[in-house]
Amino acid sequence: MRGAPHASGWLGASGCFLPSPARCRDSTPQPGESMASTEERRECETECCSKDAKLQCPTCIKLGIQGSYFCSQECFKGSWASHKLLHKKAKEDKNQNECKNCVEKDINTDPWPGYRYTGKLRPYYPLTPLRLVPSEIQRPDYADHPRGMSESEQFLKGTAQIKILPPDDIEGMRVVCRLAREVLDIAAKMVKPGVTTEEIDHAVHLACTARNCYPSPLNYYNFPKSCCTSVNEVICHGIPDRRPLQDGDILNVDITVYHNGFHGDLNETFYVGEVDEGAKKLVQTTYECLMQAIDSVKPGVRYRELGNIIQKHAQANGFSVVRSYCGHGIHRLFHTAPNVPHYAKNKAVGVMKPGHVFTIEPMICEGGWQDETWPDGWTAVTRDGKRSAQFEHTLLVTDTGCDILTRRLEDNGRAHFLSQM
Ligand SMILES: [Zn+2]
Ligand SMILES: [Zn+2]
Repeated sequence: MRGAPHASGWLGASGCFLPSPARCRDSTPQPGESMASTEERRECETECCSKDAKLQCPTCIKLGIQGSYFCSQECFKGSWASHKLLHKKAKEDKNQNECKNCVEKDINTDPWPGYRYTGKLRPYYPLTPLRLVPSEIQRPDYADHPRGMSESEQFLKGTAQIKILPPDDIEGMRVVCRLAREVLDIAAKMVKPGVTTEEIDHAVHLACTARNCYPSPLNYYNFPKSCCTSVNEVICHGIPDRRPLQDGDILNVDITVYHNGFHGDLNETFYVGEVDEGAKKLVQTTYECLMQAIDSVKPGVRYRELGNIIQKHAQANGFSVVRSYCGHGIHRLFHTAPNVPHYAKNKAVGVMKPGHVFTIEPMICEGGWQDETWPDGWTAVTRDGKRSAQFEHTLLVTDTGCDILTRRLEDNGRAHFLSQM
């Protein structure tokens, strides 16, 4: 927290400021002179007053104007008419600099004039150019499709049949999920106020390629980045941009990587700096929803049962469950059967069998479950602008239960926000 600025009153000279450009002084301090010490004698800035000056103009301090020492309240008042011009000039310079920064950084937080945002979050455009993946890294079929379409996924669209993975494929899934976990852990370390989501995306991209992985989101139906970063009211599929994270935000980072023909998928929600109690309850409950659902996974359980478990726990805490986005089967395809809704009384098809691999990724909201999509075609936000949190794991159904393939290796497998508390 920053302290409240001194809005009024005199401040004793602290010795922290260089002497101001002297007016009505015989010797002007030269650049490179050392910082003034408290012992150094200062003269009052009033024309032709040469008394000792230990009081400094509070507005000058606020505006970062150096010097501006006066001997007394009377002298300060007497000089006010000319002195205040200094303030005006400093403010003008500051505005001009800020304008210049805007033009230099060229940040546009209103790329879709007329769109009514549901909450406070804004996009920070333009996005940085598409990142390249070294040509020696194996690419999924959509990576080079002009509209990012996956022919292999389209081919199986509408099929409810769930693939039972042979042992070699299961080993491939174990490897890719461990790599995805490593990448998420790297992203987790970067989360703090002031860091932009694009900086996190860049680190994710490099962490993927360093592991011989293609970042699965990149160009998937033309998604422009290598991971999804969803802040506050964003439910999922937020596009990393130039917005610096703010103290008190919650941020979900969703990582999927492609390696040796398989995709591995996980996400976690993080606290940015100090968050309020409401955010903590939301994130904690969302994590519990995922872990309770995982606890129920074993052969013979219907996929539609997971939503009942998740909604029951969310509702008991006063939260709602997103209905437009679901968990999914995952292996050689990014998204395939089964479809795994997170809300109660859903009509999902399928019964769990050993060798099935799928995700559970509940999105839980502080307010209503209704969503809408920004004009970018991706960013899903809550209709009421209230916050939403999410956690995701990729799971393998075993003979007796399930293996969490994207389990964290440190901290007993617990999510990062638990270490952040
Ligand atoms: Zn997923
Ligand atoms: Zn995911």
